[in-house]
Amino acid sequence: KERVFSGVQPTGNLHLGNYLGAISRFVPLQETYDCIYCVVDMHAITVPQDPGELRRQIREVTAAFLAAGIDAERHIVFNQSQVAEHAELAWIFNCIARIGWLNRMTQFKEKAGKDRENASVGLYAYPTLMAADILAYRATHVPVGEDQKQHLELTRDVAQKFNNDYAAAIAENGHGDMFFPLTEPLIQGPAMRIMSLRDGSKKMSKSDPSDYSRINLTDDADAIAQKIRKAKTDPEPLPSEEAGLESRPEAANLVGIFAALKGVEKSQVLHEFGGAQFSSFKGALVDLAVEKMGPIGAEMKRLVADPGHIDAVLGRGAERARVIARETLDAVYDIVGFIRSA
Ligand code: ATP
Ligand code: MG
Repeated sequence: KERVFSGVQPTGNLHLGNYLGAISRFVPLQETYDCIYCVVDMHAITVPQDPGELRRQIREVTAAFLAAGIDAERHIVFNQSQVAEHAELAWIFNCIARIGWLNRMTQFKEKAGKDRENASVGLYAYPTLMAADILAYRATHVPVGEDQKQHLELTRDVAQKFNNDYAAAIAENGHGDMFFPLTEPLIQGPAMRIMSLRDGSKKMSKSDPSDYSRINLTDDADAIAQKIRKAKTDPEPLPSEEAGLESRPEAANLVGIFAALKGVEKSQVLHEFGGAQFSSFKGALVDLAVEKMGPIGAEMKRLVADPGHIDAVLGRGAERARVIARETLDAVYDIVGFIRSA
């Protein structure tokens, strides 16, 4: 079976974009792939985190995975820092990736802001750690939101350069002509980029200071209703064709959210709501969002009330992940010429 890997950072405020763009899409992949879903806590500390809050968030992301329907028995759920091979492989990749490649990464530019000299080295090296997360398992497919597309391209570049630079050693060690696969991103559907409810030009984000910009997975029905009713729109009624959404980013976003929650295409939503005023469309969206998200939020709250259970799930997952990752690292160390005691 081919292998899927994906990670979510425990950086607080898990939102509808994380759910529709990533977590909800992890679930059906369990039927056809071996899946590894990771709470990437080492990525989280590339920006400052409060230790107690970080621990709470690691458990909350784990709870979101389980509440969404990820089966931690048949597949693997764990937190990154428990499998040291991620950090080990990231170092190798720091020596493969070029500074010029990292300089092009837009996420770093956005997160570092104006004071780039003051950003952590970890924030800069984030994409090589992400490449290590994926390639430690030689994963072939990675479901992510569109914002991660550039990092996936870098992962492929790292894999390809490693395969080329060490081609002779890879063959000598019996791995043929390709050690790492060229991983494919899985980015599709109406929800690959959910935008802020306050500004249709910014992605919905955990770090947006306005809580009205996003629907959190733990929001109750009243909060969901309030946020959707206050969501920015324009004065025109909804169009009946998708082309009518061009240059109407807020309208396009709400229609996309509706389509993703309902599991239909945007065109079908417009077929139903074309010509409607936003007030009535928003009412239908509130009902749908509460129906779909309410049970997940409730299950998350139930799960985080038992941190011992969550930690046990993560511990078992880490043990199983480590077996796979160690095999990769041993092979990599042989390929690059390190000496390992038997
Ligand atoms: P942060 O601001 O801390 O980076 P984030 O909201 O971007 O938080 P991540 O943990 O970085 O969340 O990403 C987890 C997954 O959610 C990734 O696959 C990412 O592509 C996806 N994702 C994040 N934001 C959105 C969004 N607005 N729409 C669709 N997918 C998203
Ligand atoms: Mg992010």
